[in-house]
Amino acid sequence: MDFKTLDAMELTGKTALVRVDINVPFENGAVSDFTRIDAVLPTINDIVAAGGKAVLLAHFGRPKGQVVPEMSLAQVRPALEARLGKPVAFAADCIGKPAKDAVLAMEPGDVLLLENTRFHAGEEKNDPMMAAALAALGDIYVNDAFSAAHRAHASTEGIARLLPACAGRLMEAELTALEAALGNPARPVVAVVGGAKVSTKLDLLGNLIEKVDALVIGGGMANTFLAAQAHPVGKSLCEHDLAETARVILDKAEARGCRLLLPVDLVVARDFRANAPSEIVTECPEDAMILDAGPESVSQIAALFGNSRTLIWNGPLGAFEIEPFDAATNAAAREAARLTREGGLVSVAGGGDTVAALNRAGAAGDFTYISTAGGAFLEWMEGKTLPGVAALEP
Ligand code: ADP
Ligand code: MG
Repeated sequence: MDFKTLDAMELTGKTALVRVDINVPFENGAVSDFTRIDAVLPTINDIVAAGGKAVLLAHFGRPKGQVVPEMSLAQVRPALEARLGKPVAFAADCIGKPAKDAVLAMEPGDVLLLENTRFHAGEEKNDPMMAAALAALGDIYVNDAFSAAHRAHASTEGIARLLPACAGRLMEAELTALEAALGNPARPVVAVVGGAKVSTKLDLLGNLIEKVDALVIGGGMANTFLAAQAHPVGKSLCEHDLAETARVILDKAEARGCRLLLPVDLVVARDFRANAPSEIVTECPEDAMILDAGPESVSQIAALFGNSRTLIWNGPLGAFEIEPFDAATNAAAREAARLTREGGLVSVAGGGDTVAALNRAGAAGDFTYISTAGGAFLEWMEGKTLPGVAALEP
C-alpha cells in the first residue's frame, strides 16, 4: 500500500478539502457520541497549524440525493466547534455559489463545514460533474474517512483523481494498522472470526484462510461448523444448509496449512436470556443451545495467542450481550490485551459488535488498533480493494 500523508503536502495558505466521517448518533437533539468527531481532529488541527484552510466534506444519514432538512450537517456544527475549540463556518450547499463564497471568505487557519454531500444524487453515483464541482473548491484533497472508503462516491473517489491527494491522520493510522495485521504481518498470525452467522462472513473466512496461520472460529458460526462435523447442536443458532460450505472451508484450511480451532467445550442453556441456568458440556443436549465457548476452549485460544505475534479479530465468541455468556469473549479479549501490553502481540480488531464486546471486556484500550470503520473494515478483511483507498495510490 502506497499513499501520501499530510507530511508530504504543502499546506500553508492552501485550501484542503478534507473528507471526514462525522455521521454521529443523536439522542434528544444532541450528539450522543463524539468518537467520530474526535477521530478527525488531528487532521484538522494539523492543517490549521500549518496555516492551511480546512474545508470539511461529509455525509450525514441517507438522504438519497434529496435535500432533507433533518439530515443537515448544520446540526453537527456545534459539536464540532466544541470539540475543536474554535469556530467552524458553515455553507448551506457543498458545491456551487454558497460553497464558493464560503471558501472565499476563509483566512488561513479557518475551518469550514460544507452541507451534506448526499443531498446531491451525483455523490453516490460518483458523477464526474459532482466530483469536478467539489474539486473546484480547493487546492488539495485529504481523505480521512476510511469508514466511507468502501464506497466509490464523488467525495471519496472521484475527487481524489482530480487534485493532489493524501491520507489524513486517521486514514493513515487505519491503513498502517491494517497493513501490520494482514498486509505484511509479523508471523505467526492468528485470526478470530466469531459472531452470529457463517453466511455473512464467507468471503472473510475465504480470504483469511489464505493469509493467516491459525483461525479461531467462535460464536454462532462455530455451531454451523460443529454440525457439519456431525456434532449435535440441539436448538443452537445454526445454518444447517451451509454444512457443505463449512466442510469446504475446513478442507481448504487443511490444504493451506491454516490451523482451524473450533470450540472443544461448550456453555449451553435452555433459554436465551441473562443468567439462564447453564452448564459446560462437550456435546450439546437436544433441548439446549450453545451460547458460549467453554473454559478448555478459552485455554486453547489463550495458548494460541501466546504463540502468535499478530492477532486480527472480528466477531464475539459467544452471546456476549447477556451474562454469563460473555465469559469466553471477555477472557480471550483480556488475554490479547495483556499480551499486547507486554509487547509480544500486535492486535487489531473491528466490527460493530466486536468493538462493543472488547469495550465491555475492558480490553479495547490495550489493543494495538481498534477499527471503528464497520463495513469498510469487513470489506478490507475480505481482501477487497477499497475504492477510496485505491484512489490515493499514485
Ligand atoms: P460484528 O458486528 O462484530 O461483525 P456479528 O454481528 O457477526 O459481529 O456477531 C455478533 C452477534 O453474534 C452478537 O449479537 C452475539 O450475540 C451473536 N452470537 C455470538 N455467539 C452466539 C451464539 N452462540 N448464539 C447466538 N448468537 C450468538
Ligand atoms: Mg454485528
